[in-house]
Amino acid sequence: MDKGLLIVVSGPSGAGKGTICKQLLDVEPDIMLSVSATTRAPRKGEVEGKNYYFMTKQHFEELIAKDEFLEYAHVYGNYYGTPKRYVQEKTAQGKDVLLEIDIQGALQVKEKYPHGVFIFILPPSMKELKQRIIHRGTESEAAIEQRFMAAFEEIDYVKKYDYCIINDDLGNAVDKVRAIIKAEKCKVTED
Ligand code: 5GP
Repeated sequence: MDKGLLIVVSGPSGAGKGTICKQLLDVEPDIMLSVSATTRAPRKGEVEGKNYYFMTKQHFEELIAKDEFLEYAHVYGNYYGTPKRYVQEKTAQGKDVLLEIDIQGALQVKEKYPHGVFIFILPPSMKELKQRIIHRGTESEAAIEQRFMAAFEEIDYVKKYDYCIINDDLGNAVDKVRAIIKAEKCKVTED
């Protein structure tokens, strides 16, 4: 059986990658979502094991020591990481797995899975990005500013990715991700 494709989606906070990934999973139910671990506090409505595995810093560091993460990073003041076993099991079963992770994590994954597909989501403008972070209403004023300022640096990393999608229309952006995945699955590789 062919190994499954690893699909990595990144982009600045507020670019809409979470919404794109959610819609992608609705229309492509065979794609498996990798649920990350984090030390960030749950937001209103977030569910343990569905949105994240929420844990203490101590527990997270124990998992790092046990080499349980495919990648992990410190993002906006908290740890976030991809549990290794789930990704390995699913891809070995031929399932495609979606990772919505930050740039530092994506670069670590690229080292281990160079045949993965790496997609960067951009907002239509920085003005629009700030509006989206504010309107989401999940972050404090300081966190909004932190995420917005980080976006300027993050955008520079687009060149490390295989594809870039400007999220000016949600349906269109989801269609583009689907088209990329479809094409990747037809790609001829040497091994
Ligand atoms: P949020 O706090 O808004 O849920 O996520 C903050 C950032 O952490 C986002 O850029 C998100 O993509 C990233 N992130 C979520 N899970 C992971 C993960 O497992 N690893 C890494 N490196 N970043 C993650």
